[in-house]
Amino acid sequence: MPDTPAPTPTSQRVRTRFAPSPTGFIHLGNIRSALYPWAFARSQGGTFILRIEDTDLERSTQAAVDVILEGMRWLGLEPDEGPYYQMQRMDRYRAVLAQLQAAGHVYPCYMSMAELDALRERQLANKEKPRYDGTWRPERGKVLPPIPEGVQPVLRFRTPTSGVVGWDDKCKGRIEFQNSELDDLVIARPDGTPTYNFCVCVDDMDMAITHVIRGDDHVNNTPRQIHIFEALGAKVPVFAHLPTVLNEDGEKMSKRHGAKPVTWYRDAGFLPDAMVNYLARLGWSHGDDEIFSRAQFLEWFNLDHLGRSAAQFDEAKLRWVNAQHLKAMDDAELAPLVAAQLAQRGIQADERLPALCALFKDRCDTTVALADWLMPYHADVHPSAQDLQQHVTDAVRPALASLAARLEAIDWSAPAIAGAIRQTLAEHGLKMPQLAMPVRVLVMGTPQTPSVYAVLALHRKDTVLARLQKAGKSSI
Ligand code: GLU
Repeated sequence: MPDTPAPTPTSQRVRTRFAPSPTGFIHLGNIRSALYPWAFARSQGGTFILRIEDTDLERSTQAAVDVILEGMRWLGLEPDEGPYYQMQRMDRYRAVLAQLQAAGHVYPCYMSMAELDALRERQLANKEKPRYDGTWRPERGKVLPPIPEGVQPVLRFRTPTSGVVGWDDKCKGRIEFQNSELDDLVIARPDGTPTYNFCVCVDDMDMAITHVIRGDDHVNNTPRQIHIFEALGAKVPVFAHLPTVLNEDGEKMSKRHGAKPVTWYRDAGFLPDAMVNYLARLGWSHGDDEIFSRAQFLEWFNLDHLGRSAAQFDEAKLRWVNAQHLKAMDDAELAPLVAAQLAQRGIQADERLPALCALFKDRCDTTVALADWLMPYHADVHPSAQDLQQHVTDAVRPALASLAARLEAIDWSAPAIAGAIRQTLAEHGLKMPQLAMPVRVLVMGTPQTPSVYAVLALHRKDTVLARLQKAGKSSI
């Protein structure tokens, strides 16, 4: 894994990035911030970069990095470059800091924490906004205080004191800040480690990022970053700040508020394309289209139809979207996903699986639900006492016995099974449901199934006979 990005390309090809901090398990709200830059790069023939912002050593974990990588792989949002890790780029940040300091954009500040606290209290007492007062900012003709002994300074960025800084946000429109509102940001700590806003700018410059697409919790960082880009002589990227994703209770989606890791949805039987479809609609639209493929999404996506208001997660809608994709999915493609669900239950699927998927997928919203439906094909069934009592009555037992005898004699196929059932109905003067319901209860463990012929045809003959024969016993 390289720790420095490829050299800056000279052309202005689109280059986007996803820059998560691995400080908690990535959830759906976070991954949407990967989906849009990925889609924009793909739709423009550009490059999508993954950068892990792991400088918060106390809170960053390898487990959280793994969920990011696994989640992106599962959703098919793989980067063209990276992952780059900020912790591996410290030497580069230090070198750029030194350049900025030499050029006069950065100065050391020796104010202690106690002095900063006292300043803050004075400002609050005077009803002023707390801010650094520029004590150590060099100015022409200004005499700086004597440098205290043994104090390691922080480095502050020299922010213009007047004028306006702004940008045309692709999501929010024009945004401007008064420079007088921004104080001189600390960009290196006393131990020399660079701070967040600075690293982001060096990375975006070195990685030649053209479009920064991220959550709107970063809007307040952007004016500071624009100043840093300008001091670096770098081109300022286009910004699109995406509105927050809210959870079902209307709070900002977060792990603290019960958001699940992205990989939870994989394990719960959601399809990558359905997730992409659902997440795409959380903050972007293409007319009234609700269900679309990955290819359609990439064809349609641009930064001109981003929603401006917060989107709310809705699990029922996600399930509906997933069900639509399940229904439309090719059975040969669906089968391995269902096989994986069955394997987790210790069941090895066989050659019947694509046909079983075709028969049951319409009634399922996840591959877990589909695997549930297929259990009677791979393990014993346990019909409820109530279903047995209601459907497997003494009146129908003789018909069940003669059906079993007929089935035993046929070559196993749906038409032959249908023939055996028809003959049994005629012989015993029964209507279809009177026989089909007990057959379903005995063979599938439930009276609600698709067509009984189709359901039986995918079972092994001896399984069906053994289950029907149980009807002869007074208690099952
Ligand atoms: N690491 C930041 C975060 O996880 C994102 C920084 C950015 O996109 O500029 O919120």
